[in-house]
Amino acid sequence: MAETHKGTCFCGAVEVEVTGKPEGMGYCHCSSCRSWSAGPVNAFTLWKSENVKVTRGAEFVGHYAKTERSDRKFCTSCGGHIMTDHPLWGLVDVYAATIPTLHFEPGVHVNYAETVLPMKDGLPKLKDFPAELGGSGQSVPE
Ligand SMILES: [Zn+2]
Ligand SMILES: [Zn+2]
Repeated sequence: MAETHKGTCFCGAVEVEVTGKPEGMGYCHCSSCRSWSAGPVNAFTLWKSENVKVTRGAEFVGHYAKTERSDRKFCTSCGGHIMTDHPLWGLVDVYAATIPTLHFEPGVHVNYAETVLPMKDGLPKLKDFPAELGGSGQSVPE
């Protein structure tokens, strides 16, 4: 029996469910995440698309794709943010805050070159993205 975690948007109209284990977890420090979330960092959990389901309120899911890399999903009733689809990677970032029962174990910081909130936690800090996701793979100091 695979592990599942449920989460909702801010008002509860939209419910999502993730199954299995995330492909990766960490923090994104990019200016897009900052602008979209209105927070200094985005705590992400990445899932294969087939492991993420909208189980209620699909009609309330709005989306906005500023670039082809990220299709950001939100609730049209409350404006709460839910997840970001990364179609080129076949992965979905279900924000850690959306699925509170998942034990969040960050492994990496990405886009750390853009940080406004340095986090000295000993985890690897990547300048942008890992090489396998099309980034430079370069590390930067904390
Ligand atoms: Zn909502
Ligand atoms: Zn970001």
